Amino acid sequence: MADIIQLLPDHVANQIAAGEVVQRPASVVKELLENAIDAGSSSVKLIIKDAGKTLIQVVDDGCGMSVTDARLSFERHATSKIKSADDLFNLHTKGFRGEALASIAAIAHVELKSRQEQEETGTHIKIEGSEVVSQEVVVTPKGTSILVKNLFYNIPARRNFLKSNPVETRHIIDEFHRVSLAHPNVRFSMFHNGSEVFQLPESNFRQRIVNIFGNKTNEKLVPVDESTEVVTMSGFVGKPEFAKKTRGEQFFFVNNRFIKSAYLNHAVSSAFEGLLKDGAHASYFLNLKVDPQTIDINIHPTKTEIKFDDEHTIYAILRSAIKHSLGQFNIAPVLDFERNANLDTPYQQHKTTASAPAVDVDRSFNPFASDDSKSNSASYRPKKEQSAGWESLYVGLEPKGTNGDIAIDANNFETDPEHVSMFQNASQETGAATYQLHRKYVLSSIKSGMLVIDQHRAHQRILYEEFLKQITVKEGVSQQLLFPLALNFSVDEIKILVELKEQLEHTGFVFSKLEGETLEITGVPTSATESGVSIILEQLISDVENEVPDSSFSQTDMLAKSLAKSLSIKTGQSLTKMEQEHLVNSLFACKEPSTTPDNRLTFVTMTVDELDKKFM
Ligand code: ADP
Ligand code: MG
Repeated sequence: MADIIQLLPDHVANQIAAGEVVQRPASVVKELLENAIDAGSSSVKLIIKDAGKTLIQVVDDGCGMSVTDARLSFERHATSKIKSADDLFNLHTKGFRGEALASIAAIAHVELKSRQEQEETGTHIKIEGSEVVSQEVVVTPKGTSILVKNLFYNIPARRNFLKSNPVETRHIIDEFHRVSLAHPNVRFSMFHNGSEVFQLPESNFRQRIVNIFGNKTNEKLVPVDESTEVVTMSGFVGKPEFAKKTRGEQFFFVNNRFIKSAYLNHAVSSAFEGLLKDGAHASYFLNLKVDPQTIDINIHPTKTEIKFDDEHTIYAILRSAIKHSLGQFNIAPVLDFERNANLDTPYQQHKTTASAPAVDVDRSFNPFASDDSKSNSASYRPKKEQSAGWESLYVGLEPKGTNGDIAIDANNFETDPEHVSMFQNASQETGAATYQLHRKYVLSSIKSGMLVIDQHRAHQRILYEEFLKQITVKEGVSQQLLFPLALNFSVDEIKILVELKEQLEHTGFVFSKLEGETLEITGVPTSATESGVSIILEQLISDVENEVPDSSFSQTDMLAKSLAKSLSIKTGQSLTKMEQEHLVNSLFACKEPSTTPDNRLTFVTMTVDELDKKFM
């Protein structure tokens, strides 16, 4: 039989390679920006039209290319960045595979102008679908300008596969963020359809973040710094209260290269454990510097995933560095709920000098004197609050009489509303029969044993029923803000809020403007704070977006659920005795106290019998 294997022509091979390297306009942007960085540029300009579908241009002031190099740069496996395989483990450049320009030229109309500093004239090359159309001498500024037009013009399937302009633009902006954050010392600008999108002057890392994400970002950043033999870390994490519902601002850079790593992301999330609201994602901007020998970048064509030799150690260091920062900057005064809060030194106290401890001896103390004896110093007597706490454990356990007739059986009141109100009376009349555990649970004693209430969940139930009622009877109470509060949302997001406007007003929101891109609020629900409003609305929008389409009839329900989730007491919040009691009473005044609006348990009971068994 005849031989059937043949070598593919170059332009076909290039098109195949392009399938891996160039998925969408944003991939071209990434490759071109990285080339500009590798060329040692101090200023890089990105120009796009129609989300990059018609035009992508990158202009730099870097080292430029000689006539021969300019021509060669479009060949596959043509690179100035590595010479041998060993160099793969000593990379100091973004590129090294030598396939980006060849791939791009295979699937678009490309024009390149480039001049090296010492040359008077530069080179102008036009390529269409891997074919060189023209090559001329040209007068051009120092550096390189590459124009990529009509991407995927010869692969209609790919072109049709592209998403809408806003989506493709979003991807381009993401790449622009990644490269410009990795190189704050380089000036970047970006223009879309003739208007300026970004103008980023040369700066430090913090300023670069602020220039990209807005002035308000500055106050949200907590520095992270750690230097070890394996890795040097620097950068910032966002304060937990500003955490977003979407995974937007999460950046790892390893040796100035943006990378994705689910594993390291997990390290960050675990450092934030207990500090974030349900479903919120911490922001981070973290630079990791490691020995290039200890990583492999060549495991993925787009070079955004890399392999570390010692991933576990980096995980551990990252986690502890972030925990340390959050603790040090008083973001998380008690990260470890096991630890005694009294042992935590406030950050400012580090600088004050400690005074010598004084020993205060009560010479008149007589251990055999009776409790109310005058000689018994107050400091040796258990504090009032404490003793109340202890005594309260016995509330409801007395034989019928004093408390017995109003205490209830935990196993019954879930089903019997009468018992619910009886329980209310029980705790009202017996005083502080509650105790807060680990700033998470509220314990309350009942006749048959005790109740363990999850404070966050219980409060969700309470607020949910409150909001539902307010929306239905249209009687929300509002607190007036001193100054109108202007918030930034996108047009789409505002549209969502416009649809919910009436219902939101019944919960206490007062809008002075709500159209286009502007949102101005002059009043908020009494349970909300001014600083929390933006998070509440952000959560609400994301809840609406994630809502199952056909359940729109229950918009009121969704709104009440969302607000309840945002505004409820969180785990980690300490509650006064009054608040604890109020929580317990309000919970059992609810129609369905035993579950959250999304059907999770709000409390469990433990009977004395169960406890007894544990002691057997
Ligand atoms: P790689 O970046 O992996 O080397 P590319 O296909 O992206 O591969 O680029 C090929 C070569 O073209 C680079 O190695 C570099 O020498 C040259 N080059 C590309 N872009 C520029 C630029 N903006 N300035 C100077 N040289 C460039
Ligand atoms: Mg490159």
